[in-house]
Amino acid sequence: MTDTPTYGFDTLQIHAGARPDPATGARQTPIYQTTAYVFRDTDHAAALFNLQEVGYIYSRLTNPTVAVLQERIATLEGGAGAVCCSSGHAAQIMALFPLMGPGLNVVASTRAYGGTITQFSQTIKRFGWSAKFVDFDDESAVAAAIDENTRAIFCESIANPGGYVTDLDAIAKIADAAQLPLIVDNTTATPYLCQPFRHGAALVVHSTTKYLTGNGTVTGGAVVDSGTFDWSATDKFPSLSQPEPAYHGLKFHETFGPLAYTFHGIAIGLRDLGMTMNPQAAHYTLMGIETLSLRMERHVANAKKIANWLETDPRIDKVTYAGLPSSPYAKRAMRICPKGAGALFTVAVKGGYDACVKLVENLNIFSHVANLGDARSLILHPASTTHRQLNEEQQEAAGAGPSVVRISIGIEDADDLIADLDQALTVATA
Ligand SMILES: *Cc1c(COP(=O)(O)O)cnc(C)c1O
Repeated sequence: MTDTPTYGFDTLQIHAGARPDPATGARQTPIYQTTAYVFRDTDHAAALFNLQEVGYIYSRLTNPTVAVLQERIATLEGGAGAVCCSSGHAAQIMALFPLMGPGLNVVASTRAYGGTITQFSQTIKRFGWSAKFVDFDDESAVAAAIDENTRAIFCESIANPGGYVTDLDAIAKIADAAQLPLIVDNTTATPYLCQPFRHGAALVVHSTTKYLTGNGTVTGGAVVDSGTFDWSATDKFPSLSQPEPAYHGLKFHETFGPLAYTFHGIAIGLRDLGMTMNPQAAHYTLMGIETLSLRMERHVANAKKIANWLETDPRIDKVTYAGLPSSPYAKRAMRICPKGAGALFTVAVKGGYDACVKLVENLNIFSHVANLGDARSLILHPASTTHRQLNEEQQEAAGAGPSVVRISIGIEDADDLIADLDQALTVATA
């Protein structure tokens, strides 16, 4: 099937990027379990290495199974191209890599996944990069944080651990005015609920580990390029606009136009950082994406029902779900993610830290794991796990204080999930 933007999401999630295998006619995308690809002759090999011809050299760079997934994710996001990586965290480094350098910074939201806050506040310093964290609800603070060394703005569409939706349109305006790309982590929304490019984002990153794969089998990530950012408008992005010394002086933007960033990600990012997705992982994620819209509809329906039930329960202090009418982000959610505010939220339990721990330990259907976006319902106490490396102020800013649990609602029967929460809350608050 030829991909055209006139097909609907449900059709594209099954067909985009895939065609019957040219060698065998296999209808499902084969797992090309190979490291290398035979060159036709030395001229063919030279053309591939010169990026004059698109093809396969070595699976650290490209693999046919991974390529189908890249095209599928790019299509679902409405982007020009995508590069898949070994994890969501790898995707974040890969996304920043073409833009950053020693002394340069990214302006990032305080309401981000705990692992991202640690990666950005600690680990990237070793590359000479840095992050400036600001509250993205304070637009003037975001604008004020941008300086001459800023190269990107970073936030999540629906923030992990939940309950917060970023005003992507407003942040994109600030990024545009500064001629900087807005990078949106769209993991918890998925392209079914939110399409950040429609709200002005230049790049999207994913942890495909979560809803895109959808059943907790493999880790993976993706960097998606809208193809619309003008890398040559300023002198801020020399890796893309100027001769790139890491690829014998190739000018990526001039040569590849809207695919410059994607080609850079493969030819230099994957080549030299090696954060490659393997074909088995791509296969599992392709299987997951085939049912993405169906799953997300159920995730959202269940989350709404359960959040509503929890909110009125006397054992609960607060439920932060942007899909609740009482949420301060309810109106914004309807604009940014009109099909639903996801299925991830936090619950403040009366009785604080101890009650949270008891709740987690007494559930039967919910699993206590550091993951989200699984078909199974999951629960986590962020303060003692994913957000443990953060201080209490950072935990509160991220919506992950000591007295809240994070819940990732699965696609089981909502009534069974409510009954399970009910019995565990009774024990937890006794
Ligand atoms: C899990 C997650 C990540 C990191 O992804 P990994 O695949 O675990 O490396 C990044 N951002 C968000 C929002 C996540 O939920």
